[in-house]
Amino acid sequence: MDQSTFSRPLGAEAAAMRLLSDREVAARLSRSRRDFLRDAAGVALGTTFLGSSHFLRGQTAFKKRKVVVITFGGGARDQETFAPEGQENIPYMLKELAPRSTFFTQVINNGILGHYVATASLATGVYETLNNFSAIPPEHPTVFEYFRKDLKRPPSDAWVVAPSNGFNRIGESECRSYGQGMGARVILPKHLLNAATSGSTTDYDHLLRDNYETPLYAPQIGGGEFELRQLETILKLSVDDFKAHARMASSPDELSVYIAKRLMKQESPSLLWITMHDIDIAHSGAYSLYIDAIRRTDRLCAEMWKAIESEPEYAGNTTLIILPDFGRDADQDPGGNGFQHHRTGDPASRTTWMMALGAGIKEGVICDRPLQSIDLIPSLGAMMGFSAAQSQGTPIKELR
Ligand SMILES: [Zn+2]
Repeated sequence: MDQSTFSRPLGAEAAAMRLLSDREVAARLSRSRRDFLRDAAGVALGTTFLGSSHFLRGQTAFKKRKVVVITFGGGARDQETFAPEGQENIPYMLKELAPRSTFFTQVINNGILGHYVATASLATGVYETLNNFSAIPPEHPTVFEYFRKDLKRPPSDAWVVAPSNGFNRIGESECRSYGQGMGARVILPKHLLNAATSGSTTDYDHLLRDNYETPLYAPQIGGGEFELRQLETILKLSVDDFKAHARMASSPDELSVYIAKRLMKQESPSLLWITMHDIDIAHSGAYSLYIDAIRRTDRLCAEMWKAIESEPEYAGNTTLIILPDFGRDADQDPGGNGFQHHRTGDPASRTTWMMALGAGIKEGVICDRPLQSIDLIPSLGAMMGFSAAQSQGTPIKELR
């Protein structure tokens, strides 16, 4: 691997990097990312405004507007994605999606770097402090509750597709003042598959592993989750067909995207949130599996965009947002172990990115200024017409 990039410096440069403040390191990561994108995406990113946002304003726009949020797989480093030696792993994002997007190169996560708590923080716009390894609801209202309550939307209009049982409670907070029953419906494809196969076959073992970080943690869940019988009533899918599709799926995220596309077709939710998680297989230490997962996630993001463009309910009125929950440790951090974990809290693991494309979004724009993960939800509020009242983030003015 080429070790000459910003994120894997050698010798004197490595020493100098350690002297930089976290903020400087984040800014440097952000600048490199911008340069990588400009070179790789083949368009004059950041210099032209190719697309205008052809989108209605006012109440009509709010009524029709749909948003799909994808969290990018448990986080990856730049040297396996945007840096020159990593670009071969994300051809779809670089060639198909980036040129159509506004790309934010510096999205800082100042919260706890565990996948459930970080995703919950993304969804509430507050740095949540819940126990990452515990299937409990977020403390503050979620985007799904703001959306449904303010806009008076039915339960069918907000859905989450989540990777493991630990995410079962992501759809609705414990904030009672917000009222019960205003959250999103949550579907856990692995849980569904387990139910469909009664856990009795090894054909699906590669799809059923609940989490990569602490394999022994797999909470039992009950109540409120998507029930097996709803396969047929909501997704119009027989248990046998579902099992047949699952058998062909190469990973849990592929199964999640399959389910998400069924939901788009059958329920057409206006707010759809998909948490990808395959990349987190990096915790196993197997670099090749981590790379495979990045490539797959890249392909699946493009597949979701294709679905948005081809579904009549979504085409032309949908904004797609892709962002990681956080990154992974830098090689040079003495406490870290490179791609494998996210334990140090160093700037590399906190400085992520966000890509937005579709309705209302300018194409070919790069935004370098520092943003925070918690800015997402108030931004979605500005786009869709609800108030994220308890969020501590700030609306991102480029997202309208
Ligand atoms: Zn992880």
